[in-house]
Order: sequence, then structure tokens, then C-alpha cells
Amino acid sequence: MSNQDKVDTSSDVCIVCHRRRDEVDKMFHLTPTMCICGDCMQKNFDMVNQNNPYGAIDLSQMDPELIREVMGMFNGGSQPKKEEKKKAKKAPAVKEGEEAYPTLDPKHLPAPHRIKVELDAYVIGQETAKKKLSVAVYNHYKRVASGVTDIEIDKSNMLMIGPTGVGKTYLVKTLARILQVPLAITDATSLTEAGYIGDDVETVVAKLLMNADGDVEKAERGIIFIDEIDKIAKKDNAHSRDVSGESVQQSLLKLLEGSEVEVPVDGLTRNPMMRTTTVDTTNILFICGGAFPDLDKIIKERLTKHASIGFGSDLKDQFDQDRDLLSKVTTEDLRKFGMIPEFLGRLPVICSLKPLTKEMYIQILSEPRNAILKQYEMLLALDEVKLVFDESALEAIAEEAMKRDTGARALRAIIEEFMLDIMYEIPKDDAIGTVTITGDYIRGTGAPLIQMRGVN
Ligand code: ADP
Repeated sequence: MSNQDKVDTSSDVCIVCHRRRDEVDKMFHLTPTMCICGDCMQKNFDMVNQNNPYGAIDLSQMDPELIREVMGMFNGGSQPKKEEKKKAKKAPAVKEGEEAYPTLDPKHLPAPHRIKVELDAYVIGQETAKKKLSVAVYNHYKRVASGVTDIEIDKSNMLMIGPTGVGKTYLVKTLARILQVPLAITDATSLTEAGYIGDDVETVVAKLLMNADGDVEKAERGIIFIDEIDKIAKKDNAHSRDVSGESVQQSLLKLLEGSEVEVPVDGLTRNPMMRTTTVDTTNILFICGGAFPDLDKIIKERLTKHASIGFGSDLKDQFDQDRDLLSKVTTEDLRKFGMIPEFLGRLPVICSLKPLTKEMYIQILSEPRNAILKQYEMLLALDEVKLVFDESALEAIAEEAMKRDTGARALRAIIEEFMLDIMYEIPKDDAIGTVTITGDYIRGTGAPLIQMRGVN
């Protein structure tokens, strides 16, 4: 067990106002033993902002999500600390007199366009996917909230297809946060048929229950995201027992459709003495995602075959250039890829995400509410230093990210590499007023431009 795991957070007290964790909305760890509550942190940011003669950044306008991300960076990573996660799980789900998750009242569900506006604030591009997701989610929760049982409205389970790092998981995470419903994310590659080594498919429902603080009702209206779904495509090998492909798709069927699942109450491990509870998956929204490599070839083959003889080669050239072939996917293509028809039948909404362009990388760097560059600007603003990324820097970062072929995931890695020296050196010298990051600095052929205070 690491030292972090031993930290007891039950006695968390804000260092400024001395209120306890259960008396405040949010508590952030500055160090494992030092906390500040959300209110005091906001007040501090406002103060810094008012006294900030450099006008580096308007902190009072900052999105709370961004502040949370930045506090995550103080804590050594943008993820919540393990002990905070544990605490969250143990904490009572809803304080007395308070509704932690909004009641899903059909009249007060955010309409699809409002859901999309929220998604727009965090996710760049992917317009069709955002639209389809907003509508699917709206319909799903309308169905759940209305409790209509006499007319069977189909579940809006969804399949998202797109290369790695273009926002599939991020869309689902953002959505769950907007709707304030619990979310469990699992990797299809870790799932096996019951009785084999690996997680059986029910484990993901147990994860959702944990993320819903053990509250079955909340879990039953949550979202389960199954990533890398393409990895459980049927294989053409008739000789081996396919424990990780077709049979896993088979075992997911009941879950996707809606069934009652026995899950352990006290965590994920099963043992004969454990307490279990039943979770009904009927109203859980399932979203599956995958990169589906070479699916474009299957689509291209189908489209070319359909074309009339003689035009075939022209069309083939046209499809070779098409960066958006995935949007033309049909269930027939997915069946060819190896997904079984019964499985596809339970995912009525299919949407594809586009590969990121250079412009999109640049936008992702700076535009979302919690954009990574805003996070660094804010960190240096706390030291009263203005951080500027000039246009050539943004382009150089985007170009480097494109080379790495891991989508937008590469951006944080690249920025962390070159910001390390800046974050280390700048606080040494109080006289520094502005730091400008240039393309040459990113490419390793120059230094950042430093401007001292009081010099124009
Ligand atoms: P995947 O498509 O493989 O599931 P993710 O959604 O996990 O990829 O993306 C990785 C990270 O890249 C996200 O956490 C997010 O910060 C960033 N990202 C990816 N795509 C976008 C996008 N379209 N808009 C904003 N950020 C994005």
C-alpha cells in the first residue's frame, strides 16, 4: 500500500475557513494533508485577479471545471487522488435535503440543442456525433423519466466509430458530467465469457454501482461506455474456441437489452461470502466505441462494387481521397468486420467521428472551457506571469501531435515536455512579466521570449 493510500481524508478541513468536508460543496487537496474548499479557492482567485496588474487572465471568468483541472495539476495529475476517489465512494450518496443527481423529470430534461451547446464548450468539431449523441441521450432519458411501459420505445444504445484520440471517451465523460449521471468505462478487451480468466461482463455493472456510491437507483440510470469494442469482433478461425470475440458479444447481448444482474455490493471481487444486490440494466445507456481499423476498406469495397461498371476506377480514386468514409458505414459493413447481427441490433444509433485536422488540434489546445493552454496560463497567472503562445507555437505543437498518431492525447504529452523547464525556471525570477512560447522553442531551435516587468 502506498503512502497515499494511507491518508485519511475524513478529517479534511479547509485551511482558510476551517469548515469540514461535509460542510462544503467541494474540497481540493493542495497537498495530501492540506485542503482548501471551493468557496475559499474562488475568493483567492478573485483576489489574485483583482490585484493582477499584468492582466494575464481573467480568473473570475474561469470555468469551475478548469479550476478543478488546474488543482488536479497541483495535486500531481489531472485525475482525482486515489484517496479522494475512495472517499467519494464511501461518502453518503446524497446529503439530507439535497439532490445530488437531478430528478429526471421529463419536462425538465435539457433539450438536445442544450445538451449540444454544453458539449460544444468542451469538444471541438465532431458535429454530427455531438448531434446524434444529444438526441439519443435526450430520447433515452425521456423514455426513462416518463416511465412509459405500455408502448415499447427502443433503447438508444449507441456505437461510436472513430480513430484513437478524437474524442469518443471524452464525449461520453462530458455527457455524463452534464447530465450528472454515473458513468462506468470498461475496455472490451478485458471482458471474457463467464468462467474464463478476465472480467465477466457483469463486472462493468458492478463498476457502475461503485461509481453511483452504491445507490442502485442511480446506477440504473447511468451510462456504461465499452471501449475498444472492435477488438471483440468475430474471428474467422473455426478451429479455436473464441473466448474473447464472438462469445463476449453474445454475453453482452442480455446486458445491452436489459436484464437483472447480481453484483457485489462491496467492490468488484467475487467471493462466496460477499453481499450482492440486483441491478436492472433496462434503463442503463450503453455506448460502445472503437477505432475499427480497416473498416474503411470494407466500406470502400462496398461503395465501389455498387458503382456501375466503367466508373469503378474513378470512384475508387474518389473514395481513396475521402477522409470521411467512416460516416458512410452501414450495419452490413460492421457485420463484415466481425460484429454479430444480434449485437448490432442492440445498438440502434451509429455515429462516426472524424480524424482530427491541424486546425482542430489548434482549437483543442486553446478553445475548450478547460483547454490545456488555459490551464497553464492560469497556473502562471497565479505567479503573476503572463504566458503567451504565439501562432507559430500552436502550429508546431499541432504538427508534432499529428506525427504521433495518437490523436489529441498527444497534445498534453508534448506540452508537458516543453513546459517543464518553463514551470521550473520562471518562479525563480520575480522580475519576469511575460513569457512567449514560439514555434522555434517547440521545435527545439530557439528559446522562449522573456519580457521583464515594466518593460514594454
Ligand atoms: P478516444 O477517441 O480514443 O476515446 P479520447 O476521447 O479519450 O479519445 O481523447 C483523449 C483526450 O484528447 C481527451 O481527454 C481530450 O482531452 C482530448 N480530445 C480528443 N478529442 C477532442 C475533441 N474533439 N475536442 C476536445 N478535446 C479532445
